[in-house]
Order: sequence, then structure tokens, then C-alpha cells
Amino acid sequence: MIVKLTASASPSALSTVLAALARQGYETRKVDLPYGLFAVGLGDGAGDAVTLGTMEGVEWAKKEGGRAVLAARDVTRERTEVMLGRAALGSDTLALIAGPCSVEDRDQIQTCARFVAAYGATALRGGAFKPRTSPYAFQGFGHEALEMLAQAGRASGLPVVTEVMEPGEVQPMAPLVDCFQIGARSMQNFPLLKEVGRAGKPVLLKRGPSATVKEFILAAEYILLEGNPNVILCERGIRTFETATRNTLDLNAVPVLKAQTHLPVIVDPSHGTGRRDAVIPMARAAVAAGADGLIVEVHPDPEQALSDGDQSLTLAQFRELVEEITPVAEAVGRKVASPSALSFGDERPRRSRTTGWGSV
Ligand code: PEP
Ligand code: MN
Repeated sequence: MIVKLTASASPSALSTVLAALARQGYETRKVDLPYGLFAVGLGDGAGDAVTLGTMEGVEWAKKEGGRAVLAARDVTRERTEVMLGRAALGSDTLALIAGPCSVEDRDQIQTCARFVAAYGATALRGGAFKPRTSPYAFQGFGHEALEMLAQAGRASGLPVVTEVMEPGEVQPMAPLVDCFQIGARSMQNFPLLKEVGRAGKPVLLKRGPSATVKEFILAAEYILLEGNPNVILCERGIRTFETATRNTLDLNAVPVLKAQTHLPVIVDPSHGTGRRDAVIPMARAAVAAGADGLIVEVHPDPEQALSDGDQSLTLAQFRELVEEITPVAEAVGRKVASPSALSFGDERPRRSRTTGWGSV
């Protein structure tokens, strides 16, 4: 049961509603979000939404019926914008999150950071804890990698996004992380969703490879229920019968998620295709479909990458991606971010009206 309080509801009206929910057999919780204060009844209570809806200070009450309410499009008139560094994800400026699959060494991540910042990235990605299909595969350099990522983020002026795999790592990682990524394989790790919900940082939630849109949105609901409104949904490809690509990038999900939720939606054409040659075309398609941003894997030397080299763009290809999505973004009423003001002087691209981006 979800009860929305009116903007002018008194603290005692909230207490009365919570007490009523408790009497009806629910576990109760107050959830304070930018679009409203909610009294939530969890579990199987015997509440009656019509009666609750008439209580003092109540705007509406509804039974959730197995569907997301706090993430649903109709819970607020505004779309949610998530601040990631200075960039508002979900605004008319596209978010561009770029960097290697895994942080491998200081030079690799610094080179990547400097370059992607110079070409308009709004955040730096890089894995420290890697969810790998095989237990024999490289698992990431852990805390050491996290330090290197944070340092590269500071040096390039970019906020950093990295995956957390264990609930117990959320608090230790938090000081070095601007946005927690929940990997596709962890989309339904409910203790992890609750923990990042309480961490007070934006969360980039990836769709599980076999998750339906409904399950995906319900995973986001777990985070919102902890009072964290800063959830970014990421379509990263689903498992189908097709083997020509690593996954099938479900761009249908972009308009569907935007119709069903108020949360920003980004697309990962790297994991969505698994093939470097398909990343730029699908990035263009994602922008055309209305995505609020992209997350892409970039590596200074993809052939030598310790993970996901086949789908990683070279630095030059990242620049190409930015050039290629720019007119598509403009065609759908969006902008690509201008290069970070903090990026390194000499490597700032000079964009001339006649020749486009300067040479690398
Ligand atoms: C990644 O971003 O490197 C990653 C492991 O992504 P996903 O969880 O979508 O597979
Ligand atoms: Mn990867």
C-alpha cells in the first residue's frame, strides 16, 4: 500500500497514517522523495485504499498490486533528472559515460579519462570489481583500481561510475565513487539494491540479461523505496536466440521505459552488441530512440584489454562516436555536452565550424 501525503500534511497526519497502516498489518516506512512524501505499507496488510485516501493530509492511496508505484511515470509530472557531477542526466544534454571495462593501470585510466573528457564525456566509467562469467577470468584489481579510477576522475574533472557487487562493499567504496553501477547480473540482488538505495549516491541500474521491463522497473523501485531518487536505468542488451552479437540491444525498451517511468534511461551499446564495429551505429540508434545518454567502453589499446576488448572503442573511435551522434542528437532536440572545462589544455579539441573536431 502506498499513501501519498499532501504538500501541507502535518507530521502528525503522517504519524496517524503510518499507525493506521501498522494496525492493518503492514510493515511501515516513510519515504521522502523530491516528488512527495509517502507512507508505505510493505507486506500483506488488510488496508483499504479508499478509506486511507480520505484521511487527513492524504493526497491519494493505492494498492501497488505487484507493480512499481514510486518509479511509475504517473507518480510525478516532472521527469527525474539525476545530477552526475555537473551534468544533469535526463536533461536535453546527452550524458556520455565512457571509459574502460576494467581499470588496469594508472596510465590506462588516466589516458582514457583525459581523452574522453576532452571529447565531451560527462562521466568516467571503469570496473574495479568485475562480474565475470568464468571464475577463472580476470576479476578486476579491486580497491587498488578504485583508487586509480578516483584519481583519474579528479584529474580530468569527471565524476566516476563503477560497479559494486557486494552489499558490504557499498559503504567502503562510497567515498571514492560518484555513482554506483549495479551490473546486469546483480539487477535482482535485492540486498545490494537496498544498500545502494541507502548510500545517498546516484545509481546506474543495468537491466538483467533475461529481465523483463516490468522486473527492471521493480528493481528500480527497491532503490526508490530506500529514499534514493537518483536512479538511472540502463538498457544493455538481453539474451535472445541470436549469436551474431553478444546480446540483443533492446532499443524497444527506451521508449517503453520512458513511457512507464519518470527515470532517465541510458543505453550501453558496448555490452549490447559485444562488437566494436556495431557500437557506433547502435549508439546513433539509441540517441535517435530517445535515450538520455550512453555508456560506452573505451580503451587506449583494446587488443590488450584484460576484459571486453572486442567491444571496446579505441580513443579515436570514441571521438568518432561523439561526432556521429552529434547530428542525431540535434535531430531529436538534444545537445552533446561540450568538453569538460577541466580537461587538459593541450588536448582540448578545437571544434571549428568548417572542419569539425581538431586532430587527436
Ligand atoms: C560492465 O559494465 O563492464 C558490465 C559488466 O556490464 P553488464 O553488467 O551490463 O554486463
Ligand atoms: Mn565490460
